[in-house]
Parts: sequence; structure tokens; C-alpha cells
Amino acid sequence: MTDCVFCKIISGKIPAEVLFENDHVISLLDINPIHFGHALILPKQHCRDFLDLPSEAYQSILEAAKIITNALVQSLHLEGYNLFSNNGQIAGQSVFHFHLHVTPRYPDDNIRFVLKLKQYSDGELKRYGTIIRQHIQLPSA
Ligand code: AMP
Repeated sequence: MTDCVFCKIISGKIPAEVLFENDHVISLLDINPIHFGHALILPKQHCRDFLDLPSEAYQSILEAAKIITNALVQSLHLEGYNLFSNNGQIAGQSVFHFHLHVTPRYPDDNIRFVLKLKQYSDGELKRYGTIIRQHIQLPSA
């Protein structure tokens, strides 16, 4: 994708602080980190979001996420971290090339992803379960 900033990094057209790469994935430091060391893990093959990610890429993405998370925990002496992915503009995705974020967490850093949790009313939990189960599609073998 010519207008994708991550594709430009992958092809070497723009610089990045690369932590790790292999034939399938690349990991780099986020240029605007939540905390210093905040890393991104992305497939080298362009795909827009999680649902666009080819199943062949799952293993390499998760393996790289584990390698990078372990390196962050060891190097920055972390007690905790968040692993997340924003998918879709409404969910906060700003670069439309799928990626995982791994960010360090520190005591009292006051980062909250959920401000007010909801409660299901009578029957609603089951209703949501039923609707979602009706749309489960297993991958074809
Ligand atoms: P998201 O908003 O979840 O799509 O995440 C995209 C992330 O990419 C943001 O946290 C940006 O700070 C980061 N980002 C954008 N451009 C660059 C770049 N050139 N190098 C490193 N990180 C970048």
C-alpha cells in the first residue's frame, strides 16, 4: 500500500526504531508512546485490521508479541503491561495496517481503558450470548 505509513517503514522508505523483524512480522517503537518502550507488532503483509489478517499470520504475530513483551518486561523491569489493538476509526485506529500495541504499565499511572462498566439487565446476558453464537462461523478446513 503506497499511502500506508507502516508499509513505508517495512519497505525502508521512512525510518523507525525497529526492535525485531523476520520474514513475516516487524516490531518497532511507537513514535508517540503511552509510556517509553511502547511497542507495535505488525505483519509485513498489508492488512487493514484484525478481520483482514490472514490466518497464516496469526502464529508469527503472537510469537513476536511474546518475544517483544518479554524483552520489555526484562529490560524495563515491568510488573505489568497491556496488549491491545484498535480496530476501526470509532475504536481509535489511526493507522489502517493491523498492529498490536504492547505498552508498559506502572503503579499509579492512572491509565484507564474503561471508565464505567455496564450491568446486564434480566435476560440480556443470554440474549447477547444467543445473538453472537448465531453468527459464529468456523474457518473452513
Ligand atoms: P492506532 O491509533 O491504534 O492505529 O495506532 C497507531 C500507532 O502508530 C499510534 O500509536 C502512533 O503513534 C503510531 N505511529 C504512527 N506513525 C508512526 C511512525 N512513523 N513510527 C512509529 N509509530 C508510528
